[in-house]
Amino acid sequence: MFLSSREERVIVAKLNAPAASGWWQRLRYWREDRQLRRLAVTSAQWHAALGDWTVYQRYPLEQQQRIQQLALRLLLRKHLVAINDAELDDRLRLRIAGMAAVPVLELGLDWYDGWRTLILYDGPFVAEHSWEDEFGIVHQEVSERSGEAWERGPVVLSLEDVWHSGQGDGYNVVIHELAHTLDMRDASANGAPPLHAGMDAAAWKQDMQAAWDDLARRAEQGEPLPVDEYALEDPAEFFAVLSETFFEQPEPLQAAWPGVYRHLADFYRQDLLQS
Ligand SMILES: [Zn+2]
Repeated sequence: MFLSSREERVIVAKLNAPAASGWWQRLRYWREDRQLRRLAVTSAQWHAALGDWTVYQRYPLEQQQRIQQLALRLLLRKHLVAINDAELDDRLRLRIAGMAAVPVLELGLDWYDGWRTLILYDGPFVAEHSWEDEFGIVHQEVSERSGEAWERGPVVLSLEDVWHSGQGDGYNVVIHELAHTLDMRDASANGAPPLHAGMDAAAWKQDMQAAWDDLARRAEQGEPLPVDEYALEDPAEFFAVLSETFFEQPEPLQAAWPGVYRHLADFYRQDLLQS
């Protein structure tokens, strides 16, 4: 599309706007509820898909059932596509959807309305990006990725990294990429998703900056890191890495940066250390 960046921003903002509530929303949920009643997933299937995931294990049974319902609704709304010999079976669908459901468990699935397609690659993939600098020079960049998320979609995940996710070491590519989509809901990936009413944007910024500086200092001095060093790529990566750590390894995150932990708990409306 040949649009000015301003026009493009307006379109993205519209696409990302919360769906009109009221009759349309009710109809959408009514239709989905009918489809959901016809889906029969056994508890054995859920156990095979998510039973070994430590994050899922932290939730009480009632919350696990809410995650399951949200995951199935997500599978109704999104297209999961496998390419490059990736194999997509029911177990993998349920695992990805279950992991994707956790960040929006208290936000609601409509927070993912900005995208529809999730592409799975077999193995890490090579991404080619070009970007133009302020002098109009176009740069080509080729890099190996484990996942990607774009404004308006799609979300791209490497299958290998999906299987490495949720192993208890803080890494989760599904939560990481979906955190980017939440960040982009205010039309830019800047490390700050749209905050809820009552949240203090200035305090968010101040605490995130202090944590960033602390992480950079720890990395330089070879100290143990509460989150993966990749967070220091840019503010968007910082938020995505913090988000995966918030769910996967909340204890060290809270111990290192309690203010940041509190902001994330307020944003996600969840606190895994309290449940
Ligand atoms: Zn990222």
